[in-house]
Parts: sequence; structure tokens; C-alpha cells
Amino acid sequence: METVSTATTWTRETAQAEKRDLWTAMKRGFRCRCPRCGEGKMFRAFLKTADNCSKCGLDFTPHRADDLPAYLVIVIVGHIVVPAALWIETNYSPAVWLQLAMYLPATLVSSLVLLQPIKGAVVGIQWALRMHGFDENAPSDIPPV
Ligand SMILES: [Zn+2]
Repeated sequence: METVSTATTWTRETAQAEKRDLWTAMKRGFRCRCPRCGEGKMFRAFLKTADNCSKCGLDFTPHRADDLPAYLVIVIVGHIVVPAALWIETNYSPAVWLQLAMYLPATLVSSLVLLQPIKGAVVGIQWALRMHGFDENAPSDIPPV
């Protein structure tokens, strides 16, 4: 019986086999869609990615978004809410209960709204840059992390 080797040789040509546009992948991920085809849903729950794309079959399991989406959401929301709070306090000085009634719900809602799209964009970045298991031409002698 003849065995067929599926191992690929790492060459300059294999590395340039398929162009993956970073911005397109990020935009598709931000819309919570597959970064490759832009049609299949990326998530099966709020922050749980599907195993693969329902349209093109892209395997989503190699992503390693970890805590990066949460850090990015904190940075983005913090850079909006804190300057707004400082500006309102400086110019209008409303009562503390009124400020808390505005800033806490605004922070919570905007964080929850941004978390899934940001995670989708991070997965899109990882796919476009062939990070982790998203590179099908990776040399097989590199041990998995
Ligand atoms: Zn897809």
C-alpha cells in the first residue's frame, strides 16, 4: 500500500499562496461574520465562536483571542466615557447621583455592545495574519503551543 505524504515544504511560494487582506478580515469580523467569506456567522453564543463557518467551512478553533477583546473594549470605552465625564463635571457639575446614573449604564451598555464585534475583529486579524493555527502551510515540525 502506497502512503501519500501531506507534509508541505516551507518555501517562499507557499507563504505567498493566498493573500489575506487585513482590513477586509477585520471588517468582516467586526460584523461577526467569517473573515474569509464574510457570510457565515462567527459566533454561536455571545462570545463563543462557532467551530467553523457555516458557508465556507473555515475552522475558527485555532483563534486565540483570549483577553485582548476585553482590554480593547476597556481602552475604547474608557477613552470615551472618562473625557465626557470630565467635560460634563467641569462645565455643568451635575449631582453625583445623576452622573452615576448616566456613566454606569453608558459604560455597561457600550462595553457589552462592543465586546462581540471587537472579538470578531481580533479573530479576523489572527486569520489574516495566519496566526496560530490559521496557517495551513505552516511547517509541521513546529510544536503546537
Ligand atoms: Zn466563511
